[in-house]
Amino acid sequence: MIYADNAATTKMSDAAIDTMVACMKETYGNPSSLYEVGQKAKEVLENAREEVMKAIGANNFREILFTSGGSEADNQALRSAAEIGRAAGKMHIVSSAFEHHAILHTLKRLEKEGFEVTLVDVHEDGLVRPEEVEAAIREDTCLVTIMYANNEIGTIQPIREIGAICRAKGVLFHTDAVQAIGHIPVNVQEDNIDLLSASAHKFHGPKGTGFLYARKGIKLTNLIEGGAQERGKRAGTENVPGIAAMAVALNDAVANLEQNAEITKKKRDRLIAGLKEIEHSAINGDETKRLPGNVNFCFEGIEGESLLLLLDDKGIQASSGSACTSGSLDPSHVLLAIGRVHDVAHGSLRLTIDEKTSDEDVEFIITAVKDVVTYLRSFSPIWRDLVTGKKEFIL
Ligand SMILES: *Cc1c(COP(=O)(O)O)cnc(C)c1O
Repeated sequence: MIYADNAATTKMSDAAIDTMVACMKETYGNPSSLYEVGQKAKEVLENAREEVMKAIGANNFREILFTSGGSEADNQALRSAAEIGRAAGKMHIVSSAFEHHAILHTLKRLEKEGFEVTLVDVHEDGLVRPEEVEAAIREDTCLVTIMYANNEIGTIQPIREIGAICRAKGVLFHTDAVQAIGHIPVNVQEDNIDLLSASAHKFHGPKGTGFLYARKGIKLTNLIEGGAQERGKRAGTENVPGIAAMAVALNDAVANLEQNAEITKKKRDRLIAGLKEIEHSAINGDETKRLPGNVNFCFEGIEGESLLLLLDDKGIQASSGSACTSGSLDPSHVLLAIGRVHDVAHGSLRLTIDEKTSDEDVEFIITAVKDVVTYLRSFSPIWRDLVTGKKEFIL
């Protein structure tokens, strides 16, 4: 089996699993309890906070708030910035069309509450332009939220420049860095980030754990009412084993980041070169300004879902643009945002590999995709229309 869907989730590292198990067996106390095993759990929790803080270049442990994952961190970041904006009479938010649904759906909710949202364009190369973000900022803008790297096409956004613009204009800047953390260098200070979301299961940590970075002085709104955990901003007994494992996974990812990225990029580029040989295909998003492990293609005249099923038969686990909304026929909002037409967007394939993907795996994937695309096209009515000239090729 070849696992090529690391953008959906990653396999937990052995170190993270061992940490989690040890924590469950030994440091099982409630961090709020005053006796020994509780205080030990508290120590584990605060050590993890310090490690997470350092890994993203923050310098105050109070800036790290543990959450149940990326979605919760996104919700809390947007809700908090919106409340700060509302109090100041600023009800305008700038974002982009290809954000994760945790952002887009929260923005929809805020719109119902009276906020106004401007979505800047994502260009054909899968990148947002800083000058267009700047132009979208108004007197009443309370927040700019742009993702660090896209989860479908892997394109890495000019975050530092956007952050600098926001800072100069005095507008809060949030970034959903779920796909970036542990894969490419991220530093909240150097990148001018005020709020940042991350999720452990995207960097070989456990599912159901993540964190929100909020620069000192930003007042957070709590989504969950109850006890005084996380300085009163997130009630509920902390997921100590998950948080401890997340810190270990993050440390490992950051320590080996450059080396892993280099290995992974070589395999990615070989995959891209191999898949480009398929006629009437195109890569989605800039070829180099993308995550080390992300490959995303459109193949004209086929359907992504059939492609996935047949690849699965060959032991390849991958994803298509519409996988997140399976059951619906809507193509990926990300591919539409970069200008792919519906027909083409339907024939997409996302392969997200890592440093452990072998060279043999890469060659196997290239051959398998070529075979499956040829096979599917052999009985596709759309493909027949294209080759007979009834329809025009787009790619
Ligand atoms: C996976 C993902 C999320 C959601 O994170 P969860 O921990 O699964 O809630 C948010 N944003 C991006 C970009 C993601 O890839």
